[in-house]
Amino acid sequence: MRYSKFLIPTLREDPAEAEVASHRLMLRAGMIRKLAAGIYSTLPLGERVIKKTAQIVREEMNRAGALEVTLPFVQPAELWQESGRWNVYGKEMLRLKDRNDREFCLGPTHEEVITNLVKGVISSYKQLPVNLYQIHTKFRDEIRPRFGVMRAREFIMKDAYSFDTDEEGAEKSYRHMYDAYCRIFERLGLKFRAVEADTGPIGGNFSHEFMVLADTGEDVIVACSNCDYAANMEKAEIKPPDDPEKNNIDLKKTERVETPNIKTVDEVTAFLRVSPSKLIKTLVFSCDDGHIVALVRGDHEINEVKLRNFIGCDNVLLADEDLVEELTHAPRGFAGPVGLKDVKIIADFGLKGGTNFVSGGNEKDIHIMNVNFDRDFSVTRFGDIRCAGDGDPCPRCGQVLETKRGIEVGHIFKLGTKYSRSMNATYLDPGGEPNHMVMGCYGIGIGRTAAAAIEQSHDENGIIFPESIAPFSVLVLPVDTTEKIQMEIAEKIYRELTAGGIDVLLDDRDERPGIKFKDADMIGVPLRLTVGRNAVKGNNVDIKSRKTGEIRQVPVEDAVSAVVESLGESS
Ligand code: ATP
Ligand code: MG
Repeated sequence: MRYSKFLIPTLREDPAEAEVASHRLMLRAGMIRKLAAGIYSTLPLGERVIKKTAQIVREEMNRAGALEVTLPFVQPAELWQESGRWNVYGKEMLRLKDRNDREFCLGPTHEEVITNLVKGVISSYKQLPVNLYQIHTKFRDEIRPRFGVMRAREFIMKDAYSFDTDEEGAEKSYRHMYDAYCRIFERLGLKFRAVEADTGPIGGNFSHEFMVLADTGEDVIVACSNCDYAANMEKAEIKPPDDPEKNNIDLKKTERVETPNIKTVDEVTAFLRVSPSKLIKTLVFSCDDGHIVALVRGDHEINEVKLRNFIGCDNVLLADEDLVEELTHAPRGFAGPVGLKDVKIIADFGLKGGTNFVSGGNEKDIHIMNVNFDRDFSVTRFGDIRCAGDGDPCPRCGQVLETKRGIEVGHIFKLGTKYSRSMNATYLDPGGEPNHMVMGCYGIGIGRTAAAAIEQSHDENGIIFPESIAPFSVLVLPVDTTEKIQMEIAEKIYRELTAGGIDVLLDDRDERPGIKFKDADMIGVPLRLTVGRNAVKGNNVDIKSRKTGEIRQVPVEDAVSAVVESLGESS
């Protein structure tokens, strides 16, 4: 490709709207342009990156035996009513009506469509298992679209759906996808971690998110410093503490103290001069069958997903001010476990064995010092209900957990029979009996993955593309296009590399060298081959690695083989 015939509208200045590097650089490198919030056009350079990313995903899906299809983007409401999700999906689903007043949505995901399709074309166990995927547009009316294509409203996803005859088969399909995902993200040259994720109301231990590690990631993951345990924050477990030895000797007398308008952990601990680890945070939640009270240490955070799973409720919501008052007879900020009646109290393991805590006094402007378990109040159950943090013990090996930030690029999920039951997708088993198909679903955000690669690999001068998704592998840069011999050498190298099947961009623009070098760095092509005065006089060209910055001089006649060799090394 000739630069002069290509369209790369690079920007000299940082766009104000870009909060993270990948967004800023994708705009500056002329890969994308915004049309509306979370809605982007992809320009030719971006298109090449997206296509290469999608192609790697496609190749690995095919290798894993999945079959490519294309499913409609516009989906009729009836399908979603059948699955029961039309009224629960919420505002992320963009709904619309056709000229006959029929309701539709723009597909935020495709479980309904695929289940409907498969139940129409598959009837026998002989046709199973099957895994169908597409690489296509999704629309989710995200509450806060941001970071460019990373959290867009319209975006491209690879979504795959597997159908098996039984649980065992479904687990095998899941494993296949897990392995395919690992290969995909390895080929993309990403530093990633597969982490256990919460399965929500479906239950079971079958969901993993694939996280690209990056400081700007929206997600927090928890990983063991010793073994391979890793989970997202919602799911991450903490090893329960050993049972503490009974020691009642230093239990101090309780004392009610006035704490006028002192409510938060920071305010209370500063006012009473105690460490946050000595405070009991008392939180009231409403749940399926009434309400419960959860206790965590002042320096810990409650994890609502873990709490929900622990008590086995589908819905757990932090109580509003009225419910708090009704239960504790005090405004929010003064709740405590002492004297609470007729309510289940769940305490986090982190409080176990501790003594002489401070808690709210269930009276306005009052706290209680030297509160102790069993003596002053009792808990219904202790459990693992807090967010894991740096230094907590690993649930598998007991060593130290660490938190890192990540970008979720892929998600795999065992669905079981949730959709096949609600939409009645059955097959006939060898005995002629109908059974529900067992499903799994598997997503990868294509744009988000490309953006994550940039997030992980860039410097102050621009993008540093991994070879696998670079829009071009080599940039041939004649320094002075008006110099006939320079251009001839550059053209010859360009032709030979192109003939060898390498993606080459020839910067044939009549621009100042400084501008050409700046653009070369910005668009992140892995190798830059500079043809300058030295090519004419000394018969040498420069080959620069974008990643290491290293420059090698090679004789003109060796340039092509040197490039081919370098590309082989870096892939
Ligand atoms: P998130 O928690 O980030 O909103 P999700 O759990 O809603 O993601 P899934 O429904 O599992 O995402 O979708 C599969 C994949 O699609 C994600 O792993 C991600 O790579 C991509 N994806 C999801 N939402 C977006 C978005 N708004 N913009 C770009 N990619 C997205
Ligand atoms: Mg989402």
